[in-house]
Amino acid sequence: MEFRQYRVEKDLIVIGAGMPGICAAIQAARLGLSVALINNRGYLGGNASAEIGVSVDGADGMQEFNLWARETGIIDELRLENLYRNPQKNRYIWDAVLMDAVLKEKNIELFLNTNIDKVEMKADDLIEYVSGSQLGSEKRFNFYAPLFLDDTGDGTVGYLAGADFRMGRESGHEFDESAAPEEADDCVLPSTLTFHAKDTGKPVRYIRPGFALDITKTEALKYRTIPRDTFYRSQWYYEGSGRINQIENSEAIIQQHRELVYGIWDYIKNSGEYGAENYDFEYIAPVPGKRESRRLMGDHILSERDITEQRDFEDTVGHGGWSIDLHAVDGFFSKDLVNKHIFLKGIYQIPYRTGYSRNISNLFFAGRCMSTTHVAFGSTRVMATLSTLGQALGAAAYLCKKYDLMPRDIYKSRIQELRQLLLRHDQYIVGCKNEDPDDLARSAKITASSESRLCLEDAEFERPLDKPLGLIIPVDGCMASISIPVRAASDTAIEYTVYEPVKRENYNPERIIARGRVDVRASSDPSWVRLPLNVSVDRNKIFIELSPQAGLYLGMTRDKLPGVMSMVKNPNGSPTLVDAATMQMKEFIWRPIEGTVCFKADPDHGIYSSSNVNNGYSRPYGLPNLWLSEKTNADQCGEYIRISWHEVKTINEIILYFDDDLNYRISYWPVENNVIPEVVRDYDILYKSGDEYRLLKSVRGNYKRVNNIKADSIQTGELKLVFHATNGFPRVGLYEVRVY
Ligand SMILES: Cc1cc2nc3c(=O)[nH]c(=O)nc-3n(C[C@H](O)[C@H](O)[C@H](O)COP(=O)(O)OP(=O)(O)OC[C@H]3O[C@@H](n4cnc5c(N)ncnc54)[C@H](O)[C@@H]3O)c2cc1C
Repeated sequence: MEFRQYRVEKDLIVIGAGMPGICAAIQAARLGLSVALINNRGYLGGNASAEIGVSVDGADGMQEFNLWARETGIIDELRLENLYRNPQKNRYIWDAVLMDAVLKEKNIELFLNTNIDKVEMKADDLIEYVSGSQLGSEKRFNFYAPLFLDDTGDGTVGYLAGADFRMGRESGHEFDESAAPEEADDCVLPSTLTFHAKDTGKPVRYIRPGFALDITKTEALKYRTIPRDTFYRSQWYYEGSGRINQIENSEAIIQQHRELVYGIWDYIKNSGEYGAENYDFEYIAPVPGKRESRRLMGDHILSERDITEQRDFEDTVGHGGWSIDLHAVDGFFSKDLVNKHIFLKGIYQIPYRTGYSRNISNLFFAGRCMSTTHVAFGSTRVMATLSTLGQALGAAAYLCKKYDLMPRDIYKSRIQELRQLLLRHDQYIVGCKNEDPDDLARSAKITASSESRLCLEDAEFERPLDKPLGLIIPVDGCMASISIPVRAASDTAIEYTVYEPVKRENYNPERIIARGRVDVRASSDPSWVRLPLNVSVDRNKIFIELSPQAGLYLGMTRDKLPGVMSMVKNPNGSPTLVDAATMQMKEFIWRPIEGTVCFKADPDHGIYSSSNVNNGYSRPYGLPNLWLSEKTNADQCGEYIRISWHEVKTINEIILYFDDDLNYRISYWPVENNVIPEVVRDYDILYKSGDEYRLLKSVRGNYKRVNNIKADSIQTGELKLVFHATNGFPRVGLYEVRVY
């Protein structure tokens, strides 16, 4: 006897419901493909699941200048939904958010607790079906499709299909990687068993189990700390060995982790160092979070220089930006630094060719088994970044079906179509512009009720100029000067250097384009000081560095303008933060500060003009690229945008891409607010019929960045978007409008 067999036929089979697999399945399903999403655990999300509990991070984390860098698209939609429903960041509510998102898609059939353990081939390079049994139901499913996507983390489907893969670290010379070891080896980033504890309100005894480590008998505490303030949860660096094969030795590794976790808990409870008498274990994951195992090989293997040199690819379909974050191979028992964060200049591009197998024709892969070197993987592995590749592959699968193509053919003949499709679905593709011929908004005339000027005039507090201070301002054309409010305790001078980032996606002070020094007279009140710049910048921004000067105070505001940012330069005390250019410890780190230096720009280039909503960009690139109303009442905005054509158009769909503060870091930790203040909350869409406006749609309580509004073949020559309220921000911000 064996389990009864069931045949499932779909357009796309996604194996592994980690975050990239979920995004791939949703994207493909939304484009009309039938999809099976298969996961061998009962919770969705892989390492981000309720079971393992790792936070979803991305391109906006662990860097200095990855500003306005948060991934958009499906991963942003999921994160904003979770913020809205779950600001307390309860992991089971997060699971419900993921479950809702998947079950809402009628084209997805979900197979939980189903472990794929067999791959049957049609030819050497072609998968016919994958097969797996379901825990609890005594069923075996055979999943047939023309296309398969491996998001198992371990690359299990690729391995069983005979796909080329690597495991371990490349030698430095193979890809000219300075962060790689001299000789190749089998080491990987180690795994971690997550746990958390709770305060029970009364003393609780803990007796160390016989299998647990007595960590006082190891050398670990000489090199590692068990922090006092967060001792009720696992730390990422409570890691096991990265020297052994993470797949073959999986069970042995879990046992090693148990020994470590129960041993650490013994130290917390019984060493007398922590005052943790009332704490008790609440949860220990049944499986470790795996960081790295197999990497499947695609037509491109993303490597260190692709990332550090921010190389441009014709087939870019996503972006990343997390530092190259390489952990000590021996984890908690290492004598090395816990990790190294190799800091980048800014975000980097992810080419489509890293997402399909070079030798199995119908196999896509997203997730940590994507095609990178070990070093590049140190950055790509964060889940929002991986999810952008997942979404891209879901869209590529749709084009494969539409044109009867294989994944590689999309690169060869349909890559621009894929990129345009992804833009419509809110993926960020560095520098890529909306060129959709079906988008009626591209040829429309846009006018608005008002536009913000490029200035912040009303100082609310002062800040001493006691450290180097950077002011980032978008510039398009010649900028004669900026003025800033300054108070000086005695006669002195301001010295400044003006930089321009070399790439439009960057914000770093890179190329010097001007310098200056201006005398400042002593005064008891701040006065506007004009800094002559005389710089010419093509759709980019400038970084003005003010040198520290004793007795100088700058007028600051808490008001915000997208694209404008103030930062200070601090000495870096951490040996783990490494400069990619030198591979040495970074000497200084720039960090955003509270508030912004007030300024007036001369001239004001119309940076926040209404023409931004059909300029082809739906997020900052070079310039902020959004229409921003002047300052208004967040609850009663009274602002509007008019979209008009010379002739009557037939309208079936309107897509709005609102400002959702792409600098807001959506973190793992509980927050007060469950919405991003910048997002427009209440608005109406009207269309002109004869001389009057008729209501097409009234939206109240919006918290999403992208709003898709369906229309029923409305005939009109003009649309009017009337904005009544934001979620708290005193300006209305809209990146893009598309009309179909
Ligand atoms: C402790 C730890 C901390 C981390 N910290 C962060 C962080 O703070 N932020 C961040 O963004 N990233 C972090 N990472 C990295 C990140 O979690 C991983 O890179 C990411 O989860 C990889 O995604 P994935 O979908 O490829 O794999 P996974 O998340 O492992 O998902 C794979 C999925 O496939 C399923 N699966 C596996 N095999 C099969 C099979 N044979 N059949 C069916 N289903 C299968 C699994 O159950 C799982 O659901 C961390 C990783 C670890 C381990």
